[in-house]
Amino acid sequence: MFDVLQVLLQAQKELLSFNGLGISVLGGSKSSTSLEDIPNNYKVLFLQGGGSGQFSAVPLNLIGLKEDRCADYLVTGTWSAKAAKEAEKYGKVNIVHPKLDSFTKIPDPSSWTLNPSASYVYYCCNETVHGVEFNFTPETKDVVLVSDMSSNFLSRPVDVSKFGLIYAGAQKNVGCAGVTVVIVRDDLLGYALKECPIVLDYKVQAEMKSLYNTPPCFSIYIMGLVLEWIKNNGGSAAMEKLNKQKSSMIYDIINSSNGFYVCPVDAACRSRMNVPFRVGKKEGDDALEKKFLEGASKRGMISLKGHRSVGGMRASLYNAVTLEDTAALADYMRGFLKEHQ
Ligand code: PMP
Repeated sequence: MFDVLQVLLQAQKELLSFNGLGISVLGGSKSSTSLEDIPNNYKVLFLQGGGSGQFSAVPLNLIGLKEDRCADYLVTGTWSAKAAKEAEKYGKVNIVHPKLDSFTKIPDPSSWTLNPSASYVYYCCNETVHGVEFNFTPETKDVVLVSDMSSNFLSRPVDVSKFGLIYAGAQKNVGCAGVTVVIVRDDLLGYALKECPIVLDYKVQAEMKSLYNTPPCFSIYIMGLVLEWIKNNGGSAAMEKLNKQKSSMIYDIINSSNGFYVCPVDAACRSRMNVPFRVGKKEGDDALEKKFLEGASKRGMISLKGHRSVGGMRASLYNAVTLEDTAALADYMRGFLKEHQ
C-alpha cells in the first residue's frame, strides 16, 4: 500500500536534481539492501525481459541441473501454463497433478506425482488472471523449488531458504515495468544450457552484478523507492496484514451476497491480490456487469474488468491499493447489490 503520489513526487525531485542521468540514481543501489531476509548464499539479480523472459530463463538455466533434463510443473492458471509450454522447448516437462478443467483450485498435494529426478519443481505462487494463490509452500524434498511471485512479491513474508529460485516482475507490487527481480541460490549458478542467451545467464549476470548489459536504470530506481517505502512501513509482515484486511473486505461481500456476486475460486486458495468475480449470476449477467463497470468508472474505479480470457470482474489489490481505495470498492459493491438484487 505504498503512497504512489509520494513516490512519484520524490522521483520527480530526485530526477531533476540528478539532471536526468539514470546512472546517478542507480549509483545508490538501494534495491538490494532493502529486500529483506535473503540468506547470504543467494544472489539478487535485476534483469530485463519481464516475467515472460523468466519462463525461458528458468529452464535455460536450471533444466540442465540433472542429466535427465526433466522439470516438474504445477499448472494452476494462465501464467504457469505459459511457463510450462516454454520449458518444453528445452527439456521434458511433467505436469505433476491431474489436468484441471478450470483454474479455480489447487489440486491437493496428495494427488501430485513428483519426479525425484526432476531438475526443479515450478509453480506460480499467485495466478494473476484466475485469482488462485498458494497459501502454502510445496514440499519437494531434495528437488529445487522455483516460484513465479510476479503478482504477490512482498505482499507477505516468504521464507526464501525454502526456494532455489524466486522471480518477480516489478510492475505489480514493487514498482514499474522493465525490471524483474531474480533471487537465486548460489549453488544453482553455472548450469545454463549452451544455447542460453548470455543476458539470461544467471551466472554471468551474478558475476557482473546485473550489469552485463545496460540495466533498466529508471525501473530499478523506482523499485528502490518502493522497497524503501515498504521497509519504512513495516515490511512484508505489515503488507500481509493490510492485504488480508483488504481482500477480506471484498470476499466478505461476495460471500454474503446470496449468489449475486460469485467468485469461482475455491475458498482455500483465493488470492489476496486478485479477486475475480461475476455479477448477477454464476456465469455473469452481461448487462449488469456492463452497468457495474460503468458505475465504478464514474467513481474513479477503473481496471475492474476481468482478463479477456475469463470475463467478469477482477479487483486487483496490490500493495499500492490502499485500505481506503478498497473500502470505496466495497461500498460501491454493497450499494450495487442493494439496488439490483
Ligand atoms: N507471471 C505472472 C504471475 C504475471 O502476472 C505476469 C504478467 N501479468 C507474467 C508472469 C508475465 O509478465 P510480463 O508481462 O512481465 O512478461
